[in-house]
Amino acid sequence: MMFYSLNGQSVKVPFHQAVVQSIAPDRGLYFPEAIPRLPASFFENIQSISDQEVAFSAMAPFVGGSLTEQELRDILLDVLSFDFPLVSLNDRISTLELFHGPTMAFKDVGARFMARCLGHFTKRDPKSKEVTVLVATSGDTGGAVARGFLNVPGVKVIILYPRGKVSEIQEKQLTTLGANIRALEVDGVFDDCQRMVKKAFQDDILQRHFQLTSANSINVARWLPQMIYYLLAYKKAGKEKLVFSVPSGNFGNICAGMVAHKMGMPVQQFIASVNSNAVVPHFMKTQTYTPRPAVATISNAMDVGDPSNFVRILELFEQNFGMLSRKLTSYSFSDTETRRAMKELYSHFSYVADPHGAVGYLGLQKYLDQHPEVNGVFLETAHPVKFLNVVEQVIQKELPLPDQIAALMPRKKQATAVGSYEEFQSFLLSEV
Ligand SMILES: *Cc1c(COP(=O)(O)O)cnc(C)c1O
Repeated sequence: MMFYSLNGQSVKVPFHQAVVQSIAPDRGLYFPEAIPRLPASFFENIQSISDQEVAFSAMAPFVGGSLTEQELRDILLDVLSFDFPLVSLNDRISTLELFHGPTMAFKDVGARFMARCLGHFTKRDPKSKEVTVLVATSGDTGGAVARGFLNVPGVKVIILYPRGKVSEIQEKQLTTLGANIRALEVDGVFDDCQRMVKKAFQDDILQRHFQLTSANSINVARWLPQMIYYLLAYKKAGKEKLVFSVPSGNFGNICAGMVAHKMGMPVQQFIASVNSNAVVPHFMKTQTYTPRPAVATISNAMDVGDPSNFVRILELFEQNFGMLSRKLTSYSFSDTETRRAMKELYSHFSYVADPHGAVGYLGLQKYLDQHPEVNGVFLETAHPVKFLNVVEQVIQKELPLPDQIAALMPRKKQATAVGSYEEFQSFLLSEV
């Protein structure tokens, strides 16, 4: 399969090139040339198909020509080595728990898939330079990427995070791995980290020395495999008239679910549930897309004022607003509402949700109230301990640390302080 740039000025490239480049030379996001349809029988019989086979059938068309069937099967076996339980709260509401991976966030799936792809691509081409993955993180992405790429040969990862702005657990996940992972503690906020990464991609000196790529959800290898757990949820739910509510920030996750739908998976509606950063709900009301500076909320992985993957959703619906609005509903919720939802989930269902999952629950609840005939799944995108302070304060209960996290706590932080772009650049050059 070939991938084209949504800015329309660059040539089409095969999957492996789209992965290594991350973004097209014209700065556009890559998009698959076609979304193949799986046969109706695939969805009718999905309960008798193994999880691995479901994942393989969905991903194979996109990576064809860049990975052999066996390579893809090996990657999937490794990536999907943890569970994606669908937990039923009542007869209409279930939650798809995506936090059972090594860093306890849904981003583990995409990060692990991308890491293993890059490992294959660099191994295959002995002339290729080491790939340097730059990633700016407000918390969750960095941990998942670091863990996913740990010890992948031919790949080095540089993580930039804002000093004092990530939780203690998140910082441990970013800074204690060593090996091919470097953590830079930036004197600034997340936007400063992101600016440094963007500048590096346009820096001729760095471009001469490094094969740079990014591991954000703009990368097709991080974005597309997220469709797999929607298919697994569909398989487990076994229900008609299904809707998915997805806590959304950059809209990569929900867009991957929409790709699964375009491939033939029956879904009644997608609900993009967001916090006070309400660019998309505003767009769905007014058809005017107005990026805004992000505001800080308790669901901080969704504090995004200009969701990078929304252009992919528009492309999926051929820029046709009527078609889009028949499949996508978007609601925004305040922190007060989110806290209330966390309390309600705990008191009604004894379910401990993190703030992102709670936003997903609110969106689902609102949609179900207006559509009595549908059944819903909300995605729980992170384990509640990743947002320990908020969760414990809201539900007034102490949470035990899961093994993955407890093991990290005694490890020593290793990070290099960076105060300016020049310091960042000289750090990189010292790594050549
Ligand atoms: C990244 C993240 C999101 C947002 O996902 P997008 O694909 O950017 O929409 C939601 N919840 C958590 C916990 C996250 O880490």
